[in-house]
Amino acid sequence: MKLYNSLTHTRDEFVTHEPGKVTMYTCGPTVYHFAHIGNLRSYIMEDVLEKYLNFAGYEVKRAMNITDVGHLTSDADTGEDKMLKGARREHKTVMEIAQFYTDAFFADCEKLHIKKPEIVVPATSYIDHFIEMVSKLLEKGYAYEAGGNIYFDTAKLDEYYVFNKQNQEDLAVGVRDGVEEDGNKRNKCDFVLWFTKSKFEDQELKWDSPWGVGYPGWHIECSAISLNTLGEYLDLHCGGIDNAFPHHTNEIAQSEAYLGHKWCSSWFHVLHLNTNDGKMSKSKGEFLTVSLLEEKGYDPLVYRFFCLQSHYRKALVFSYEGLDNARVSYDKLVARLAELKPAEPTACDLEAAKPLIDRFREAMDNDLNTAMGVTALYDVVKAKISDAAKLYAIAEMDEVLSCGLIAAADKKRAEAEEAAKAAEAEKAAAAAALAADPMAAEIEAAIKERADAKKAKNYARADEIRKELLEKGIVLVDTKDGTTWQKA
Ligand SMILES: [Zn+2]
Repeated sequence: MKLYNSLTHTRDEFVTHEPGKVTMYTCGPTVYHFAHIGNLRSYIMEDVLEKYLNFAGYEVKRAMNITDVGHLTSDADTGEDKMLKGARREHKTVMEIAQFYTDAFFADCEKLHIKKPEIVVPATSYIDHFIEMVSKLLEKGYAYEAGGNIYFDTAKLDEYYVFNKQNQEDLAVGVRDGVEEDGNKRNKCDFVLWFTKSKFEDQELKWDSPWGVGYPGWHIECSAISLNTLGEYLDLHCGGIDNAFPHHTNEIAQSEAYLGHKWCSSWFHVLHLNTNDGKMSKSKGEFLTVSLLEEKGYDPLVYRFFCLQSHYRKALVFSYEGLDNARVSYDKLVARLAELKPAEPTACDLEAAKPLIDRFREAMDNDLNTAMGVTALYDVVKAKISDAAKLYAIAEMDEVLSCGLIAAADKKRAEAEEAAKAAEAEKAAAAAALAADPMAAEIEAAIKERADAKKAKNYARADEIRKELLEKGIVLVDTKDGTTWQKA
């Protein structure tokens, strides 16, 4: 499989440290608010990647952190503490906020068919590991204490700006966004590993450490959790592109300084979701969440389908028109699948499905081209193969795409069968009501007499019978299967 690697800026052949096995790390949410659909786009694409790796025969071990300890909007101890802000807004404790929004995050994931990673670690449960890592960085001379905080010394590295070599000045914290500079830092891009002196004196969550009571910096979370759950050679690290700098850059700095060797070989970054007005999370003043989409009548899986229709390395523009188009395509696809008759696929069907599944594999092997993967679904629908072969191929592909296609088609087919049964029952009930009519025998006899008259070419008599019945309020209906009657 070829996968674009942010570290090499090329589409590399995906190779793992241990053959057949993938260790995969995902930066989890900061749980101070509902996740917006832009962030969820990243989780959807990462989910597809994990499922495709499984499909391709790899055994995937995946871990994710939950940022439930103060995450500052900048490394210079400026900006806001998001967790604290969320707690104040809702008059709850930080831990209550964290639990509530962690649950909300996974509920959204479930609706979007995003599998929960095998290992999920709340940052607050790993404080000892963070302290151990910071201690070792100090010991090895990669960190220093200043003004009560522990900082990572980026000047100790041969290379710090691993993802963006060109714009080092623009990227440096302190230059970016006019953020006020932290005078304790030796170098502009140094970052905090452990805070004891913070401008947030009312920080709710604090822990003892060799450097005083305080709390960890944000970046140390992911390094320590990844190293302790997935080992010291990581195959794949994922996240939104906004995490590449400074978060992932700092993760690499501290992990490799700690280990003394290269840490993660492949970096998978998903681009932004933007709305027409350029904002990532809001549209016309509304905060875009899964619940909001549901309130507006959209199945969350339609949003997933919408995301899959474009490549993860392209910025995706969100609009309701775009989502409507995705819904029309999704519904049409499901309707086509519902028309197919399910059956246990034979060896012959499996053989017929194989080239179509290979086409899907080719698309996904090409830097996870989900747009082409979705096209492969349509190729199946149009193919001249049996229904069982089609349904088998679609089911295989949907194991990875997870758009719930087979279930939706089954439901639609069952509804259609139910409706057909109800119509049949209604027809039978009407026929039974007629048969129970006291005049039924007499009418049936008249119908028979009319048929005999017709056979004898006595059309005058046949017409007469029809008229006589009509005068009694009975209408005859001639069909290819014979004559029936009903009340006028
Ligand atoms: Zn992270």
